[in-house]
Amino acid sequence: MSEIDAIGSGDGRILVVEDNPDNMTLIEYLLRAHGFEPLLARNGADGLALAIEHRPDVVLLDLRMDGMDGFEVATEIRRRPELGGVRLVAVTASVMAGDLERITGAGFDGYIPKPIEPTTFVTEVRRFLPGDAVGAGTAAGTP
Ligand code: MN
Repeated sequence: MSEIDAIGSGDGRILVVEDNPDNMTLIEYLLRAHGFEPLLARNGADGLALAIEHRPDVVLLDLRMDGMDGFEVATEIRRRPELGGVRLVAVTASVMAGDLERITGAGFDGYIPKPIEPTTFVTEVRRFLPGDAVGAGTAAGTP
């Protein structure tokens, strides 16, 4: 089942689609520490459903997932004109030459490499937000 902790407030609505619990915990922690309130999906089908329902600014997509993988989710999002403004970011360890071509061909706007680097991850994510939007302004007091 999908988990919706909060609908993103203000600018910078982010959807995270990730099937690895440790990666999801880290990504959620980092985003929340910077004031974002991400939507979370733990499989591709839930991720696609949340993207259609909420039209986030950015979708952070794990590529390797059982069932609908990240490439399939990207293809389905790109198939829908109403989601044309959604930025798709692959979060993946697969960054060899052939993978890059496949990522670009699937309609992704870019990628962030795994393992996730806590000190730079949110800065990387912000590059894909419209107008370089920040989360809830200055760093929130809660982790
Ligand atoms: Mn995975």
